[in-house]
Amino acid sequence: MDNDKTNTSSHEPPVLSMGSAELPPRVLVADDSATIRVALVRAMPEQSQVTEASNGEEAWKLLQEKDEIELVITDLDMPRLNGYELLERIRSSEISRIASMPVIVVTGAEDTKAKSRAFELGANDFISKNADKIEIRARVRAHHKLALLIHELEDSRKILNDQANTDALTKLTNRRAFFVRSSEALELMRRHEQPFSMLMIDVDHFKTINDTYGHQCGDNILVEVAQILTKNIRTNDILARIGGEEFAIAAPYSNRLAAVVLAERLRKAVESAEFTYNDTRVAVTVSIGVVAQDKNLPLDIDQLLARADARLYIAKRRGRNRLCATDSGESVDDYPGDEVSCPKLDDALTMIQHGNAQAMLVHLPCLLDKTLDLFRLANTRLDAGMPVELLETQIKALVKPAE
Ligand code: GH3
Ligand code: MG
Ligand code: MG
Repeated sequence: MDNDKTNTSSHEPPVLSMGSAELPPRVLVADDSATIRVALVRAMPEQSQVTEASNGEEAWKLLQEKDEIELVITDLDMPRLNGYELLERIRSSEISRIASMPVIVVTGAEDTKAKSRAFELGANDFISKNADKIEIRARVRAHHKLALLIHELEDSRKILNDQANTDALTKLTNRRAFFVRSSEALELMRRHEQPFSMLMIDVDHFKTINDTYGHQCGDNILVEVAQILTKNIRTNDILARIGGEEFAIAAPYSNRLAAVVLAERLRKAVESAEFTYNDTRVAVTVSIGVVAQDKNLPLDIDQLLARADARLYIAKRRGRNRLCATDSGESVDDYPGDEVSCPKLDDALTMIQHGNAQAMLVHLPCLLDKTLDLFRLANTRLDAGMPVELLETQIKALVKPAE
């Protein structure tokens, strides 16, 4: 293969590296006859690493334990697990390394029936029991190279696929992939009647940052903002860069309150991060539009994004570095700055059930206070004798945790 490299002239397109194909193969030889095993081992290409098994069951065990094995040579007639059964297990393995393993079957020269059955079960090639050394070596080498090439192609395809879904600057999911992934998540939430929210995040006065400190500084800030957002979301959340200085988050299992809490956490995190460029401190803030899926009036991803965008625009108009979660800029139901008013009881319960208990701690006094009417009702109508006054005093005495 060294010659191949020297012959490649510089104007030709790059070809897949064959370097790894030149490494000696790591082979598993399965045969109950020690004599045949010895003959096969002797016939392997130089420096091959050979593992031996004397029956199918042992071969199967070794295949799973030793993930360096690249190729299998097996007999058909073996105790415990025969070659056909071994082939079946290999091809139906959930581990792709094993399922795609090249398998060369050792047969009697004239045994067409056995060959045909093994071929149906996924054998890649055959060598006869009395094949000479050169033939065995050539087959092993060819299948080994082919398998390596296929793996390299698969790796390249995966890299290309990742690149097609990734934003080159921030390494976040890109706009195209965001629509696919968030649509899937939205559909899942809809089917399971779970909440879903969308956040649209835009860096404030980014044009001024570019104009003042230069485009490179702007790029660095986008990367850093992406990192801050990544650190502050949950694993279920889908974060993407969907435009120049615009990010979006699809938040499954998050109702409006959870989304507002998340948005506020992100806003604060960006505001308090220290951005510097050439030793100069650069102030960076974001504005965020928040929308939650409405059970009675479900929206699709485009509509949710459009609504989040409209709310983002309201947040900008109201002075930036803030979030907006309603369509009206003036509503008392809105959550300006970090003042998040007492949540609705069912919102709070949903959040606690979805692991957001920490965010609810600060609201516990007002939430518990809301329930007192239930105890009073139980006392007056059902004569339940609940200690309402004591509870009221205890709730008042609760200390809000520092955030
Ligand atoms: P607002 O607070 O209203 O969002 O103002 P803004 O200046 O952030 O918004 P505007 O839409 O006027 O400007 C966005 C700027 O972002 C303009 C564009 O040149 C810049 N931009 C877009 N993509 C990139 C990028 O990848 N890198 C850098 N450095 N700048 C970018
Ligand atoms: Mg902007
Ligand atoms: Mg913008």
